[in-house]
Amino acid sequence: MPSLIPLGDLRREYDSIHTKIDEAIERVLQRGWFVLGEELEAFEAEWADYCGVAHAVGVGNGTNALQLALQAAGIGRGDEVVVPALTAAFTALAVSSTGATPVFADIDLARYTLDPAALEAAITPYTAAVIPVHLYGCPADMEPIVEIARRHDLLVLEDAAQAHGARYRGVRAGGLGDAATFSFYPSKNLGAYGDAGAILTDDAALAEKIRMLRHGGQRQTYQHELLGTNSRLDEIQAAILRAKLAYLDAWNERRQTLAARYDAGLDDAGDLALPIAPDDVEHVYHLYVVRTPLRGTLRDYLSGAGVNTGIHYPQAVHLQAAYAHLGYEKGSCPNAEQAAAEVLSLPIFPQLSGHEIAQVVRLVRFFFAMR
Ligand SMILES: *Cc1c(COP(=O)(O)O)cnc(C)c1O
Repeated sequence: MPSLIPLGDLRREYDSIHTKIDEAIERVLQRGWFVLGEELEAFEAEWADYCGVAHAVGVGNGTNALQLALQAAGIGRGDEVVVPALTAAFTALAVSSTGATPVFADIDLARYTLDPAALEAAITPYTAAVIPVHLYGCPADMEPIVEIARRHDLLVLEDAAQAHGARYRGVRAGGLGDAATFSFYPSKNLGAYGDAGAILTDDAALAEKIRMLRHGGQRQTYQHELLGTNSRLDEIQAAILRAKLAYLDAWNERRQTLAARYDAGLDDAGDLALPIAPDDVEHVYHLYVVRTPLRGTLRDYLSGAGVNTGIHYPQAVHLQAAYAHLGYEKGSCPNAEQAAAEVLSLPIFPQLSGHEIAQVVRLVRFFFAMR
């Protein structure tokens, strides 16, 4: 019985770096200071530097990061924020949590990110911001998106939760708009061992406001100047992230190597669309997502053969029950809906072995050869 090939495996990751992680946690425990301390300050500086952006503010998770960035920019009730119809629903839920209304725009089916023409068509007098999402690790087509946003005076907030280290025309994700958010959820390309997130921006005043909002709206203790919340990136997670940041580039390179193996092995496998990385991006393959009308049967076949796969995402966000009140109909974002029906995420993570990926390639090829 061959062993299971997982979609991701954080236990293998920990095994590969456990002395560094244990040291980081031990350092915090020995210091006895757990919230808003020197690990967070150091991580914020290191993460901002890595991304080539002036300021990073650590918060509790990626959803809070989006919410606080919007709130700090003054976006809320009465405003509309354009988001792609295919993303983690949290992108849109963060908009809703500010009181603003998400407006769903269709994606481009080649890169699975916001279609600039759909953005332009979605703009109304109430539109205040756009959130391009660098889905699966592929940067959205930022040049036309930013150009449209500038013409309509919209804030550009990148959701870079799946794109740590990715580049668009040489510029790292996180530095492509007015502000950007990251999630460090454990399975992301840079993940904590718990929840964590951050906002990046070159705007010092915006960063300062977010710093206050994450900590009760305080600038000084017990002086609550803003209606803030509690959303902080704790010292243990910050120390873990600092330790793991040292591996991010090597891990992304390994993901790219694995993706190239899938590309080569599956190129002519059958009715299967492989991910396309445009020439001007560096894709970091948070996920390796293929698309086929035979998604369900392929998934069952792989599962039966011991290969775990995922679906990101099985429902476009505009059709989620939570957004029924907005009245979107089936067919309103056809590309996102087609993707939701056809996408399949194959195993990809830095510790996936050459033997394992060869096995997945063999099985997928066999599945199509038998039809
Ligand atoms: C993971 C993710 C989020 C949410 O991040 P959390 O840290 O889980 O709150 C938001 N947007 C995208 C695109 C994500 O992948």
